[in-house]
Amino acid sequence: MSRSAHPAGPRYADVLPEGHYSPPPTDLNALDARVWSRTVARDADGVITVAGLRVTDLAEEFGTPAFFLDEEDFRARCRAWRDAFGDEADVFYAGKAFLSRAIVRWLYEEGLNLDVCSGGELVTALDAGMPAERIALHGNNKSTEEITRAVEAGVGRIVVDSFQELARVAYIAERAGRRQRVQIRVTVGVEAHTHEFIATAHEDQKFGLALAGGQAAEAVRRALKLDGVELVGIHSHIGSQIFDTSGFEVAAHRVVGLLKEIHEEHGVQLPEIDLGGGLGIAYTSDDDPREPHEIATALRAIVTRECAAAGLAVPRISVEPGRAVVGPTAFTLYEVGTVKELPGLRTYVSVDGGMSDNIRTALYDAEYSVALASRTSTAEPMLTRVVGKHCESGDIVVKDAFLPADVAPGDLLAVPATGAYCRSMASNYNHALRPPVVAVRDGGARVIVRRETEEDLLRLDVG
Ligand SMILES: *Cc1c(COP(=O)(O)O)cnc(C)c1O
Repeated sequence: MSRSAHPAGPRYADVLPEGHYSPPPTDLNALDARVWSRTVARDADGVITVAGLRVTDLAEEFGTPAFFLDEEDFRARCRAWRDAFGDEADVFYAGKAFLSRAIVRWLYEEGLNLDVCSGGELVTALDAGMPAERIALHGNNKSTEEITRAVEAGVGRIVVDSFQELARVAYIAERAGRRQRVQIRVTVGVEAHTHEFIATAHEDQKFGLALAGGQAAEAVRRALKLDGVELVGIHSHIGSQIFDTSGFEVAAHRVVGLLKEIHEEHGVQLPEIDLGGGLGIAYTSDDDPREPHEIATALRAIVTRECAAAGLAVPRISVEPGRAVVGPTAFTLYEVGTVKELPGLRTYVSVDGGMSDNIRTALYDAEYSVALASRTSTAEPMLTRVVGKHCESGDIVVKDAFLPADVAPGDLLAVPATGAYCRSMASNYNHALRPPVVAVRDGGARVIVRRETEEDLLRLDVG
């Protein structure tokens, strides 16, 4: 199978042909359980609630735009991943999807490990008390300071991305009197998105060392000779928003092939393989992601079969879901400011946030759902585009959305599945104040990342 993939999946074509839109949903007031976090419902007045709290009350207390994160849902997803993989595998939450000190504590309590990819993520993890041995450090250009900090803290592994970095890690660890556990990140020539994957020899991308041409094998050769590092495994990460495990089959086949080569050449069997993250979630009702236990079963079977064929013992597997843990746990609440009808085209509904709190639509043509949250309506469905308030025509939150035709200024809109790569990629574009993240649980709400203030902005601007 080979189709050219858009960064967010081939499904996300830029311009849909006329008449391509999915028909309007039969019930605009319904909330699809696949897209919303588990405690979301509508109360008797038709107001959306989460953890028993009405969005109208939440908007009054915390303002809009704001992210509301369903703690029970987050913890349940952590447990589902941990239980699916059991004791013979490790689940590393990819902190880049969304990280805060509360998140770190929940991960710790639910038995997950944590991937970080910068000094800032590392300091957040350590400050919130994640044991260093449960942290992995990623990145294609880790600074000397970041590596030093990670080595001194005693992180469980550093995922090495280049020859220079391998030497750097070994040097820093040796000087610190340590032997740092490392994995080598390889590119296996598989790029997977949604239901498609592309398999080539080489990947034209910045991460990892290529299997093809022997760069990965050369990195292994060097790592095995360095006193400062203990090579424990091979790492591969193949894509994002993946629904189908067939890309992982090709990746695992190629990674196990390298393990076999290493065994033949050096007489060592590396004890770990990491298959990365990239597992998909439902952004709209059209998406039908696999459950963690289905993914775990499939990956385990693939690795077991490949190792049996190669005559190797099955290594310890790890996976790194980010989006699939936190994505579905949060929604963004916005207030409608203006509604502008373009006769014969569509209606633009402007909300009080936009590309500063969700860049994914502009960056990847990502699809989202949206619901009128502060009330139900019996008005006819109307094709809208939900847009932000930024000075940029690409500032789109939901490209094609059916909303009740009576949507009006002052209504609250909720966009589900914004837990991953929204707050973490938020910007201050137009000097926007980045929204808060409010954790909700059992009828209680608590700010875990506060809203930025004008003082925050002015403090950075030293005049
Ligand atoms: C981004 C990333 C992840 C997480 O990806 P998701 O799509 O959020 O699951 C995991 N591992 C690595 C190496 C990554 O770069």
